[in-house]
Amino acid sequence: MFELSDKAKKLQAELTEFMDAYIYPNEEKHHHQVEEAEDRWAPVPIIEELKQKAKAAGLWNLFLPDSEFGAGLSNFEYAHLCEIMGRSEMAPEVFNCSAPDTGNMETIARYGNKEQQDQWLKPLLAGEIRSCFSMTEPDVASSDATNIACEIRRERDEYVINGRKWWSSGAMTTTSKIAIVMGKTDPNAEKHKQQSMILVPLDSPGVKMIRPLHVFGYDHAPHGHAEIQYDNVRVPASNMLLGEGRGFEIAQGRLGPGRIHHCMRTIGVAERALEAMCKRANAREAFGRKLSDFDSIRKDIARSRLEIEQARLLTLKAAHMMDTVGNKVARQEIAMIKVVAPSMALKVIDRAIQVHGGAGVSQDTFLASAWAKVRTLRLADGPDEVHLDSVAKMELRQYR
Ligand SMILES: Cc1cc2nc3c(=O)[nH]c(=O)nc-3n(C[C@H](O)[C@H](O)[C@H](O)COP(=O)(O)OP(=O)(O)OC[C@H]3O[C@@H](n4cnc5c(N)ncnc54)[C@H](O)[C@@H]3O)c2cc1C
Repeated sequence: MFELSDKAKKLQAELTEFMDAYIYPNEEKHHHQVEEAEDRWAPVPIIEELKQKAKAAGLWNLFLPDSEFGAGLSNFEYAHLCEIMGRSEMAPEVFNCSAPDTGNMETIARYGNKEQQDQWLKPLLAGEIRSCFSMTEPDVASSDATNIACEIRRERDEYVINGRKWWSSGAMTTTSKIAIVMGKTDPNAEKHKQQSMILVPLDSPGVKMIRPLHVFGYDHAPHGHAEIQYDNVRVPASNMLLGEGRGFEIAQGRLGPGRIHHCMRTIGVAERALEAMCKRANAREAFGRKLSDFDSIRKDIARSRLEIEQARLLTLKAAHMMDTVGNKVARQEIAMIKVVAPSMALKVIDRAIQVHGGAGVSQDTFLASAWAKVRTLRLADGPDEVHLDSVAKMELRQYR
């Protein structure tokens, strides 16, 4: 089960080499460029520079299982690469493997027609534009997507879109050109056939960026999470994805891989936090001893290793099942890992913060920002409770 193909092994080695040569040495520069940028929503120069290098090195669009567009790796193979990219905040975008573009590219590759692919998938695959996914609404509990109220109304050869969305990640950046919007085309249809997904160019008249939302005070520029008002936005009828009433079908296809990518990256974040914790514990002295000599800290380090290994094995199992028996049969494992991986990483990062003392919550290490990012994963793509409920439902069903 755990044997990687030669192709994946080669990519793993090349990716590690690239990270050592270009990503880690440029993290400070990246941070500086983001903080000092005149326009906070413009692309970051060092990312744009490294994107060209990554493309030339063939480390590009690694996430797409379809070899026509991407690297043609299985979920299990990609998991190993995703963990490596997850170690650095800037890495996924450099390799054109960052959310929500990956999910959107997969959606257009799987469900888009030829014209939609030519217009939007090609520039996304080339890393020339970015995109957002606009489902969540401030006025309704969006963890239950049947609540989504945004109206998508057919008028002759157009659709008219009206609604307020928020947490549209990636919409703020100046290169973000396209949104996949989920809304209701037929409120009277069967519960899961009311929704549709439609492509909305972000420069359409009536698309209003209301504000960037903050995560524990971080604006995540230049990516950003936007609150957007869609006000009588008109798009050609040909912008509909797959067909009216098929929004849930697309959401299901889209979220399996998307969820697991987040988990894989999260394992990488946790690994890096443990590494930082060990280095700090070996270097710092208090009360005449190295921090690494204190029993409580040794236990925190050991527990972190135990928990990372468990979460990685479950992630790989879920990825392997997606490859071998399909996303539907693997849905319990996907739900389990969606809860396990972020919770595990939060615990590990929290311990690493503690060992760093005041530095741990400051801007001097990556830990505070990583904690804030990972915390959102207990909400994004569905809150923990919804996934736990799915796990319980499948478990109970066996004993009815
Ligand atoms: C940083 C970040 C990025 C995001 N990016 C995107 C994006 O790009 N596109 C997008 O459309 N959305 C995005 N989201 C939104 C995210 O998917 C939603 O916040 C999430 O689905 C929850 O919806 P809600 O906020 O409406 O919470 P609600 O649905 O109001 O739920 C609130 C709480 O109710 C509880 N709850 C809900 N259901 C159950 C249940 N079955 N059992 C027990 N308790 C329950 C949970 O505690 C839950 O957290 C993002 C969110 C964040 C924080």
